[in-house]
Order: sequence, then C-alpha cells, then structure tokens
Amino acid sequence: MKSMKQAFLLKPGLIEIRDVPVPEPSEGEVVIKIRAALTCGTDLKAYERGHSLIPMPGPFGHEFSGTVHKTGKGVKKFKEGDEIMGVHSAPCLQCMYCRRGIYNLCENIMNQKTLGAFAEFILLPGKVMIQNLFLKPTQLSFEIAALLEPLSCVVHPYRTLYMDNIKTALVIGAGPIGLMHLAYLKMKGVTVIVSDFFDERLDLAVEMGAAGAVVPKAIRNIIEVKTDNAGVDLVIECTGQQAVWERSVNYVRRGGTVVLFGGCPAGTVVTYDTAKLHYDELSLMGSFHFTPADVKEAFGIIAGNKMDLSMLISGEYALDDIAKVFTLLKEGQGIKYAVRA
Ligand SMILES: [Zn+2]
Ligand SMILES: [Zn+2]
Repeated sequence: MKSMKQAFLLKPGLIEIRDVPVPEPSEGEVVIKIRAALTCGTDLKAYERGHSLIPMPGPFGHEFSGTVHKTGKGVKKFKEGDEIMGVHSAPCLQCMYCRRGIYNLCENIMNQKTLGAFAEFILLPGKVMIQNLFLKPTQLSFEIAALLEPLSCVVHPYRTLYMDNIKTALVIGAGPIGLMHLAYLKMKGVTVIVSDFFDERLDLAVEMGAAGAVVPKAIRNIIEVKTDNAGVDLVIECTGQQAVWERSVNYVRRGGTVVLFGGCPAGTVVTYDTAKLHYDELSLMGSFHFTPADVKEAFGIIAGNKMDLSMLISGEYALDDIAKVFTLLKEGQGIKYAVRA
C-alpha cells in the first residue's frame, strides 16, 4: 500500500509527521492531492490550548486546494487531474436544521467534517464533493484558492445583515479572519476601522484599505472622530476574548449590531448591561460556520478576483517544517502560512 506524510497534532504544542496509507476513495468519494494547505486561527487555538472540535492525537488542517488524485465509483463531477478548491464539510441534508435550510447548524456537520489537510492527500466524502467542491480557475494560485473555507465563514453573517444600514464598521482583531472581514466590508463600500495590538497587523489593515487602524486603547477616540461620537453601525469581534466580547457593545451606535465572531474558550461567561442592550436596541449576533450558499458566494469572490487577499499569506513552508510555522504563529508573526507537501 502506498504511504504518505500527514501531520498529527498529538497534544497542544506537539506536532508529529507520520507515515500513513494514502486514502482510497469509496463510491462517490474523491482523493485530493494537496497543493496548498493554510494555517488558520482554529488550528492555532488547537495547537496552543486544545480545541473541542479538533480531537487529539489526530490529523489537522482544513483549508486546502489541490488536484483530483483519484475518484471513487460513480463520481462524474470531477476527473483525475482537475484543479480544485473546496471546504472540509457539508451539511447532511436530513437533520431538522438541514430540513429547515439552516445548513450551518446541521447536527452532523461537525462530527462528519474532514480534518487532515496538512498532508500529501486528503479524502473527501461524497456530500462535500457534490455540495462544496469547485474547479479552480487555472490562473488562480493554489494558496489563494485555499482561502475558500475561511472566506465562507466570513461571508456567513452578512447574509442576515441589512447592509444598506451599514456605513461604518469596527473590526476588532486583525488576524486572518478580521482582515477578511475588512476586505469584505470594503468591497461593500463600508468605512472600516480596525483594531489590534500588533503594529504589523495594523499596517496590513491600512494597506488593505482600513480608514483607521489603532491599538485597542485608541478605539474610543477614533470612533468619536469618525462617527461624530455616535458609534459604528457594526462591530465584528474577531478575538475570542471575554473582555473584548464585553467591550464590543460600547463601540456600536444605538440600534447597531455586534457580530461575535471569535469563539472563546469553552465555559467562558460574559456580562452585559441590560439597559444598554434594551434601550439602545442592540443586536448581538453569534456566527458559526457556513452554508453551501456562503461557500458559493466565497467561491464567486475568489474566482472572480473581487478582493485582493494575497497579503494574508505570509509565507510558504514544506510540510516537514510545520512545527516551525506554528511557532511563528504563536509568537504573533505572520497572518497565514501556506504548507506544501
Ligand atoms: Zn479555518
Ligand atoms: Zn443536517
């Protein structure tokens, strides 16, 4: 049996490259030769402190692009050698949430997702192949194509927001997700303020079109200037920190919306002033995962080259050097790295 290299996260802080069999596709499945896999905030969380949705020890990595290596019986949509971009999950289409069209909350989507993109090959189930796998435009790089999964998450909350009412926004946290929110909001004509602790990230935010990029203690000030002290129409919280979740409501105008995008560690509890939520009529909105419609929208943006996302890829490393990549990310260096098998 042919073997391949795959990165396993054994426990927080410890990655091992293992030799495992190259997966074989059953009926309806496809095996992808990975050409680029990207690191993501979720991977970093798992590496730093563990993650409820990434079992250890186990393979990890879920943002990828590549070529079709082998197709199972009955696969008509793709053939060997096709360059593809896709995501690692798809709804079951049978549970109560799927039947109601709330596909991101599918009861089976998380326990049936595919992890293991930091590898030479990955096996995708039929439902992913049918719903969430696309041909990559030839001129598009594999690295940018692999942004499909995080961008699908990013476009998700906007589906239910009334964008005509959103002229100003504050994005807290200028990691990969925050910067993608910035790019999306810019594309929609919104004036965006970005906040982060790291200068490198603030510079990047300005390069990507932020109207202002400031350290957290300067947020109040810039909001006063940019919104006549009213507060922004929309806050996107992308740090996953309890104190920031709580503070987010202080930056939004009356009637505005706070999207709580960054997941906090399990068991985190936040406190809000009820009078503020009630009399200022604030909307607090969670956002989790994405639907096939979100993936299609994200695919249209990337394939149509509607946003310049190239600045999000900070470098490229061989799979053998993946431990080095996570050391860099842990130190706050770089946004996302491409890993090539
Ligand atoms: Zn991700
Ligand atoms: Zn379902």
